[in-house]
Amino acid sequence: MTRDPRHDILFTPMQIGPKMAKNRFYQVPHCNGGGYRDPSAVVEMRRTKAEGGWGVIFTEQTEIHPSSEITPFIEQHLWDDRDIPALARMAEAMKSHGALAGIQLAYSGINGPNLYSREVPLAVTGGPILTFTSDPVQARTMDREDIRDLRRWFRNAFRRSQQAGFDLVCLYGAHGFGILQHFLSRATNQRTDEYGGSLENRGRFLREVVEEAREETRGEMAVSLRMSLHEGGAFGFSNAELRDFIEMHGDLPDIWDLAHGTWENCSGTSRFKPEGAQEDLVSGIRDLTSKPVVGVGRFTSPDAMVRQIKSGVLDFIGAARPSIADPFLPVKVQEGRYEDIRECIGCNICVSGDLTQGISRCTQNTAFMEEWRKGWHPDRARPKGVSESVLIVGAGPAGLEAALQAARRGYQVTLAEATTTLGGRVARERALPGLSAWGRVADYRTGQMAPMTNVEIYRDSRLTAEDILSMGADHVAIATGSHWRRDAVARLHLHPIPTDPAMPLFTPDDLMAGNLPEGGRVVLYDDDHFYMGSVLAELLVSRGCTVDFVTPAVKVAEWTDNTLEQGTIMRRLLEIGVEMHLSKAPEAIAAREVVLGCTWTGRQSAVAADAVVLVTSRIPDDALFRSVRALDWQGAGIRSLKLIGDAEAPGPIAWATYAGRRWAEELDTPDRGDELSFRREIAELLPHDPITP
Ligand code: ADP
Ligand code: SF4
Repeated sequence: MTRDPRHDILFTPMQIGPKMAKNRFYQVPHCNGGGYRDPSAVVEMRRTKAEGGWGVIFTEQTEIHPSSEITPFIEQHLWDDRDIPALARMAEAMKSHGALAGIQLAYSGINGPNLYSREVPLAVTGGPILTFTSDPVQARTMDREDIRDLRRWFRNAFRRSQQAGFDLVCLYGAHGFGILQHFLSRATNQRTDEYGGSLENRGRFLREVVEEAREETRGEMAVSLRMSLHEGGAFGFSNAELRDFIEMHGDLPDIWDLAHGTWENCSGTSRFKPEGAQEDLVSGIRDLTSKPVVGVGRFTSPDAMVRQIKSGVLDFIGAARPSIADPFLPVKVQEGRYEDIRECIGCNICVSGDLTQGISRCTQNTAFMEEWRKGWHPDRARPKGVSESVLIVGAGPAGLEAALQAARRGYQVTLAEATTTLGGRVARERALPGLSAWGRVADYRTGQMAPMTNVEIYRDSRLTAEDILSMGADHVAIATGSHWRRDAVARLHLHPIPTDPAMPLFTPDDLMAGNLPEGGRVVLYDDDHFYMGSVLAELLVSRGCTVDFVTPAVKVAEWTDNTLEQGTIMRRLLEIGVEMHLSKAPEAIAAREVVLGCTWTGRQSAVAADAVVLVTSRIPDDALFRSVRALDWQGAGIRSLKLIGDAEAPGPIAWATYAGRRWAEELDTPDRGDELSFRREIAELLPHDPITP
């Protein structure tokens, strides 16, 4: 395998201020839901990026002072010298293969409610905290002394970052989250002193802080400014103003890191944003400065990356999600192993790990954030154990990942699939509006297994329990998936509701199989709250149906707040004329109408309908597992029998790929009994020091 010479440019080193980046692959700061709570898990995650060949690797947002923190979200802290050791370990890991190590320094101002530190939030201009959760907290306006304090806190952070061993500091002024943007934007800066008013004045704080970064680090660290490409609204820091600012101060930082306005826009899902979606906003900025420019765009195609560089749009290819889905993306391009690239599917499950304060996971890279907790590696497999062969039944995300990981470990793998197509749910869902990238889950795994001599895949092979017993595998995984319920049972209704059999009922499986209502008025009941309801509403409208979207939640697709999609989904449904019935649920389905109840008052209303689509919950397809278990499978020589993925408990695709990986990882490992299945860190106790009032 050789690299296409057109891609060579991605491997030309480039200077960033006093530092030299070895290539153009720049892992921009990204959260991971682990942060200060799981320091070693984050360190090992970043180490895999170093091993994977990234030229620059950043931490997530690092809060520089307790007067500004964004609890409940878990980021990094650099509040005093005691935070240095964990970050030093991170810097060491990042630099372990020649990458530059960067730290993103954040002061959240009007964004930080300080629920943990209990400090009064300080903002450029005071007012209610602007964050996801409408916290009933206001910030006060900083006076000149506060601004001097803040400059000192930044200086402390620069010193500590250097002490920790970082090469670059990134000043966070993007996504509406960082105080640098709050200074620049007329929306959040209504000051009348020398820090407000003209663009020159609004940029004063940035100039001071960048100068002080240089002074404090004796010019030894590179300085990156992460800025919003476009803040919307009448008073937002627009793309035009950003260009004016860069024209005025082109040489201010050592690198311009440009990100779309809001996080939702910057990290749009593949359903709504294509690869390279920010090109229009960033194009031409390169000509306004002598410093390099980095930008993001969910880039997974080396051709698209090269085009950005050759056409003078970007100098560095910024990536968060593509680096999560494949930490080895640079090495694979370098070695010309293009077919090994595990492309991000743009689902934002990783983002949900931060927003739910869990720990992030990735649909595609099942090792993400498990590198330290479980010792998993994105690409390297541990050698197989004592047994030889495995049988996996069902080639959905769980079965495919189980088969690939077991094969990589060296087992003889047989994968049997009932249908002609591999992929299970993703083979069906990829055909739905906006979800074509879901198919990458199947394509990557089938592509990887194709040349493997220890894998046999049988399509059109619906196995029975007897078949399984006769196949002589040492270990069997049943990954037979699930199907959608044909009634209203999910979260609100735990039991079926009265339903007239004359009303045509459809499930997502029906629609995906091409069995749709024939036009007319369709009530779609969504008590699932993720993407499926709104995607099917789009499908139905495209087929000429009028859709009444009914949900007991206060907004449509409410869980998609965690994937940054909810607002876009709401907008899309309103634009295509979907009628919303929020805080409502069907109480009875009659022959020609659905009786809705208000979830608050119980007040009833009726909606006429020609058909009802139920997006409620799923039933595990575990009958095969239960019938094998009822037989003497151990007598047939099978050492372990497991139910995995949706067949065990339906969940998002990422839960299924994780289940497949876990099964393959745990083959031939001793039963750990009640022991924890992952490592974790527990805060070190200080010596007991009784506090006397
Ligand atoms: P998951 O998300 O857990 O991977 P899916 O529903 O996506 O689950 O995939 C399950 C797959 O299992 C489907 O492709 C289905 O056709 C297949 N399957 C179901 N029953 C059998 C069976 N008895 N033998 C072989 N394959 C089966
Ligand atoms: Fe991409 Fe989804 Fe993985 Fe995030 S979770 S990196 S969006 S594949």
